[in-house]
Amino acid sequence: MVKQLPSSILVVGSGGREHALVKALALSPAMSQIEGPAKPLLICAPGNAGIAQEIPCFPVAADDVAGLVALARREKIEFVVVGPEVPLSLGLSDRLIAAGIPVYGPKADGARLEASKIFTKQLLLKYRIPTAAAGIFTAVEPALDYLKRKTAPIVIKADGLAAGKGVIVAQTMPEAENAVRDMLSGNKFGSAGSQILIEDCLFGEETSILVVVSGRDYVILPTSQDHKRIGDGDTGPNTGGMGTYSPAEVVTPALLARIDREIVKPSVNAIADEGMDFRGTLFIGIMLTPAGPGVIEYNVRFGDPETQVVLPRVKSDVLALLWAAAQGELAGFNLEVRPDYALCVVIAARGYPDKYPKGDPVTLPPDLPAQTSIIHAGTSKDAKGRIVTNGGRVLGVTALGSTLREAADRAYEACENIQCASKYFRRDIGARQLRRSS
Ligand code: AMP
Repeated sequence: MVKQLPSSILVVGSGGREHALVKALALSPAMSQIEGPAKPLLICAPGNAGIAQEIPCFPVAADDVAGLVALARREKIEFVVVGPEVPLSLGLSDRLIAAGIPVYGPKADGARLEASKIFTKQLLLKYRIPTAAAGIFTAVEPALDYLKRKTAPIVIKADGLAAGKGVIVAQTMPEAENAVRDMLSGNKFGSAGSQILIEDCLFGEETSILVVVSGRDYVILPTSQDHKRIGDGDTGPNTGGMGTYSPAEVVTPALLARIDREIVKPSVNAIADEGMDFRGTLFIGIMLTPAGPGVIEYNVRFGDPETQVVLPRVKSDVLALLWAAAQGELAGFNLEVRPDYALCVVIAARGYPDKYPKGDPVTLPPDLPAQTSIIHAGTSKDAKGRIVTNGGRVLGVTALGSTLREAADRAYEACENIQCASKYFRRDIGARQLRRSS
């Protein structure tokens, strides 16, 4: 039996993912049961302009581990939900656990699964979990020699955290050679690039599976699909994600069962076998190749913007789910999922993922279509109290619908009505699935 739900929760982070988490946690019956002085508390650090409209936000940066532990203590927080990977890799969960505060999000050992692509590749190979063949290099010459035996396209990955930008899918050999030199001898990637992986390119459709893990127990969340490239038709540079939809129907129930058997279960067990007591989200990036599903990467936190479509489809109490995982009591958790479709369009600042302006005023429409919500990602308030852009990805517009088309129409109607001089968004989120279903 799961212990009584916590009545004071701190969400760490400042993006769309955290706004979506805050919205989902706020829906928990535990957040509305108590009235009066003992009213439950949901807070965020550092948050953004949208989160601050809903709950108290504290100006403690997501990578300020000591500051976050102090905040949690001061506010008598009973449960911390960590959004981004950086504080996890800095040991925030270790420190909170040492302070007696339960946390959702793995300790630093588990966070290495995202912080080091080489660590993960070695684990995948050791446990024979399907993944692309790869070589590991610390020096330019052996890496270039290895490339001579390969053909383009080929994937070059910086080992460490590079905010989603340390991966180059080189279409030609000169591009691959440049990427190798850039990472290993340049300083463009800092210490993240002191070791690299050269990985065979996997071909197919990509999907991501979000798994709530607690030791050897796990719950697979609804499927979703991301649109990584900046431009319509999947063109231009990779970004943090320009939109998502759920469910990803390319992952049929039979395929999901295969992914569970060949990838999810072996991954969760491998992580436990390696001695990591992982309690958090394992986000598995998967390529659906003709030969079967293969792992592209692990992340150790909810995806952004996957969370924005996955959590609204979870009918179960999200707080109860994350709390059960943190307490090691996830076995037997029965996840209920809504039948609706969800779609999220990311509104970015024009120029992203390269240079983009900050401080542009954002005017949100007074009315939104049914079942549509605006998730803030990179927003803040200026001196006049106006909402302004403060990041490359500014907002996420999420809509639910009884069909994917309905969800898309609702989300795009809201996108059209958002005013911002630097507004940019892709017009084709969900297009592939929409085409397939029509
Ligand atoms: P990652 O940061 O590892 O998720 O890589 C970013 C993106 O690069 C992925 O979402 C894929 O689109 C692409 N990618 C990474 N590894 C491979 C691979 N082995 N084959 C093809 N594409 C890849």
